Amino acid sequence: MKKIIKDISNTVIRTAIYIRVSSEEQVKHGYSLQAQRERLVEYCKEKGYQLIEIYIDEGKSARSKLKNRTELLRLIEDAKAQKFDRIVFWRLDRWFRNIADYYKVQEVLEANKIDWECSDEEYSTTTSNGRLHLNIKLSIAQNESDQTSDRIKFNFENMVKNGRAITGSHGVPLGYMVAGEEKNKKVVKNPDTEQVAIDMLEYIRKSGSIRKTVTYINEKYNLKICYDSMRHYLMNEKYYGCYRGIENYCEPYITKQEFDEIQSLIRKNVKNNKKYDYIFSGLLKCPKCGCRLSGYQQMTSKPKYNVKYKYPTYRCNHAHNDKLCNYRKHPSENVIEKYMINNVKREMLNLIKSSDSSKEKKNSKTVKLDKEKIKIKLSRLTDLYIDGMILIEKYEQEFQKLNSLLQEAEKNESEQESDLSQYKDFLNSNALSIYDKLDNTSRRMFWAKYIEYIIYNEDGTYDIKFK
Ligand SMILES: [Zn+2]
Repeated sequence: MKKIIKDISNTVIRTAIYIRVSSEEQVKHGYSLQAQRERLVEYCKEKGYQLIEIYIDEGKSARSKLKNRTELLRLIEDAKAQKFDRIVFWRLDRWFRNIADYYKVQEVLEANKIDWECSDEEYSTTTSNGRLHLNIKLSIAQNESDQTSDRIKFNFENMVKNGRAITGSHGVPLGYMVAGEEKNKKVVKNPDTEQVAIDMLEYIRKSGSIRKTVTYINEKYNLKICYDSMRHYLMNEKYYGCYRGIENYCEPYITKQEFDEIQSLIRKNVKNNKKYDYIFSGLLKCPKCGCRLSGYQQMTSKPKYNVKYKYPTYRCNHAHNDKLCNYRKHPSENVIEKYMINNVKREMLNLIKSSDSSKEKKNSKTVKLDKEKIKIKLSRLTDLYIDGMILIEKYEQEFQKLNSLLQEAEKNESEQESDLSQYKDFLNSNALSIYDKLDNTSRRMFWAKYIEYIIYNEDGTYDIKFK
């Protein structure tokens, strides 16, 4: 890592300016891009640098991946073409907040004899101490950027207050879109879908049925909106111009009163479906489209006695309401429940067996890595370096080694988290013997404790995924 400083008296230093501002920072200090620019141009003038190009990554946070910082990528390409000798930025955290990325780019710069400079911070990459200082600064910046999500959330609230859109067009309901300048996007009516939204909101109030509205809208406009999306649209407060409690956020389609009317209609729709407490609600998964099956009451009649009765059954709503799926099975609750009671122990035993054998394999292969031990070694290494006991080359070499061990240990740790003891406990207990005494809500909780989902295949077989 050699810093090439050209002799100013002989050579002109061709300089590139790099500026990065995140959306969060723009909200906070609307001036910061302009301020960075002015400061840097001034700085180059003072130093007598020849300004070649200004690269600006706008709206890119410190968390942005390298590949998303398009101006930085352009700068790297120009660096490879040796279009400049020096890069100037305001502060190190404008350049990188990630050690790995920093070194990746640094390699390119060095290969092309390009160096960098901060206008408002001093770094030296020519001495070991300077480089250690740099490493530490980058570590701190990286740590800070991991903790910014709360601040970003806070600024989202600010944007909402100013009527600014915080999502793309996929995040707004039917009849709206996101439009406007990069820094001032707003939710506005979408001329292409405006009529559909008007029709939908009218039809639900007339018919009172979500299902009928889905059919009506899809047929009239040749769309494929599903029942659940429609229900979500209808519950979106943007239709009366409101968002997160901010009124006049966007142009309304209906009044608050009309919106409230629709909400009570929706509650009625949902209530009609929810009178019965379905044991497997949320647990049965459609093998065709992957959505969760919904419970409904199947009407059946026994002609012999001339009586009609209902029994709880499940179906895929994408298949039933919207014809978007072709799963045709309607398993009854009774059938699923019987199967589960008779087979859950066997399925659990299989799970434990298969997991035991895979664990053995893993343990024999990998050395046990202890996260805490590695961390202690890392801090000792830094001490050694600071005390002058080892050279920077050795330090960096060891640092990389320990760091990758640490990452591996963290990965291992998360893999081993799946704990099978609860299944073993279940098998040793007589949990199933009390099942009969439970009401439907408790039965559902009983299954949900162990099971991620149950698939009832079209050929009548089952796939059970445990938690
Ligand atoms: Zn389905």
